[in-house]
Amino acid sequence: MKSDKKIGFLWELMTWPEIEACLKTVDTVILPCGAIEQHGPHLPVDVDYYDAKYMAYKVAEACEDPKPLVLPSIPFGVSYHHEDFKGTLSVTNDALSKFVYDLGISLAKNGIKKIIILNGHGDNAPTLSYAAQMINRDAKIFVCVDTGETSDVDLQKLTDTPNDAHAGEIETSTTLALRPGMVQMDKAQDATLKFGSNFLDFDNARGVSWYVRTNKISESGILGDATKGTVEKGEKMWEIMIGNMVRFVESIKNTPLDDLYQKRY
Ligand SMILES: [Zn+2]
Repeated sequence: MKSDKKIGFLWELMTWPEIEACLKTVDTVILPCGAIEQHGPHLPVDVDYYDAKYMAYKVAEACEDPKPLVLPSIPFGVSYHHEDFKGTLSVTNDALSKFVYDLGISLAKNGIKKIIILNGHGDNAPTLSYAAQMINRDAKIFVCVDTGETSDVDLQKLTDTPNDAHAGEIETSTTLALRPGMVQMDKAQDATLKFGSNFLDFDNARGVSWYVRTNKISESGILGDATKGTVEKGEKMWEIMIGNMVRFVESIKNTPLDDLYQKRY
C-alpha cells in the first residue's frame, strides 16, 4: 500500500525523533484492546477489534492539539467462553495481563504518564483492570480501563432489547453504521435473554459480575436481538460513545498527573 499521508497521532507511523518531540507536549496514550471471537452468524469475528481501533482513531482525531497518541491495537483477548463457536481465538487472562503490563512499563520508560485502555470487549475488563493496577503500582503512572459499547449506560437507553450483551441490537447497529457490507441481516436472529434471577441481568445497575459459556445460553452466539439493529441507531451510538470518550480523554490529558490524584471537584 502506497501512502504518504502523515497522521500525527498514530504511534506506529512516526519516527523516533518525531515521537520524542511529541512526548514533550503530550503524556497521554490510548491503547485499544479488542478480541477475535464469534459474533453470531451475521457479524464478522473482528467486531471488538475493529471497533476499538476505529474508536481510538476517532477519539484522538476529535481531541484538541496536542492530541493523545494512539497505540497499535491488541487484536486478541480473553474469549474462552465463546470457544464452542469456531473462529474464536482466545488468549489466557495471564497472557493478556502480562502483555499489557509489559507494554505499560515500556510506555512509562518512554515518559508516558497516562494510559487510557480503550477496551472493545467486555470480558477483557477484569484482566485489563488487573494489568492497570500493576502498572500503576510499579510505574506510578495513571492507568484506566474504559470499556465501551454494551456497557455504556447511554447506549442501553437507545436499545429496545433487555440484556443486549453480544452481537445483538447494539453491535449489529454499530457495525451496520460503519461497515454495512459486513452485516448479513438475513442471518440476524432474536436471541433475547431472560435469566432466572434479575440480579444476573447485564443491564441491572445492581447486578453482579458472573460468567458462563455462551453456548449454555445461546445457540447462535447472539445475546440480544440482532434483528433490531439499524444504521440510524448505530450512528447515534457512535456519536454518543465518541463524544463521551473525547470529553473524558481531554479531562485526563489536560490535568497534570499530580492533580489527577489530588484535585477535588
Ligand atoms: Zn463484541
